[in-house]
Amino acid sequence: MVNYVATIISKTPILEEQRQALRDLLAKLDLSVSGNKKLSDRSEDFFFNLPESMGLEALRTEVNRLCNEKIIDIAVQPNDRYRRGKQLAVFDMDSTLIQQEVIDMIAAYADVEDQVSSITSLAMNGLIDFNESLRRRASLLEGVPSTVFESLKSQIRLTPGAYELCKILKKEGYKLAVLSGGFIPLANWIKEKLGLDYAFANQLQVSEDGTALTGKVLGDIVNAERKAQLLKHIADMGNIELGASMAVGDGANDLKMMHTAGYGIAFNAKPIVQEKAPARLNAASLQDVLYILGYTLDEQKALLEN
Ligand SMILES: [Mg+2]
Repeated sequence: MVNYVATIISKTPILEEQRQALRDLLAKLDLSVSGNKKLSDRSEDFFFNLPESMGLEALRTEVNRLCNEKIIDIAVQPNDRYRRGKQLAVFDMDSTLIQQEVIDMIAAYADVEDQVSSITSLAMNGLIDFNESLRRRASLLEGVPSTVFESLKSQIRLTPGAYELCKILKKEGYKLAVLSGGFIPLANWIKEKLGLDYAFANQLQVSEDGTALTGKVLGDIVNAERKAQLLKHIADMGNIELGASMAVGDGANDLKMMHTAGYGIAFNAKPIVQEKAPARLNAASLQDVLYILGYTLDEQKALLEN
């Protein structure tokens, strides 16, 4: 038997009917709740033992069905020392730490929106891979002034709760990183804004006189595989067990790092990503990630204050 925890996270105060639905589901699977703990009005932990013979995947499928039905999220994970004892968190940037997709903002700036969106749809239909789509999108940016990133900064909106989440995790001793399939000038800027330790993203080549983008990408492309490698690399550098890491992202190219990390959270992700991720969180605030790690709202407030 392994002790597990199922954490309900709701956008609104949890209803008794939603609690009962989780209890009923666990009872149906012969898993009895050994205790529960309120984290806030919107979040609650339910502890239960999972026989080693029962696959976690089967349980997750049932849990996800319940989530869709009751419009809540339920994160299931072992209730072990790693849940609250993590030391590393890595984040995707676009639509995770920030609200926008930077490539769309650059496309609008350079007036190549139609071309970029047709490349996006080729990629989404699996006709070209991420590397090819990045190269093609980048090539459309040939001649764009190299000041583009500077001018976009004022338009970028942090996701609500991103600052608070990072502040609390730093206070708890975490190493933090942004791993982005976007571009390094903005990833570095987000790193500074949120007090992260590392930023990795793609680099666009600048012309020799420094005035314009050449449309070429330099160095290793940060794709799904590279994100997972970077996670391992950062863990190695900090002497951190992978079990003590978590990855948060919204895209299909974040799934690999989510499964490489000790725990992975699909944040406001597309349905297919939510289904394949270890956990899903559909929330207005990134700070809700802290419920999955077991922090009560009072503990979060105290950590933010002092
Ligand atoms: Mg993203």
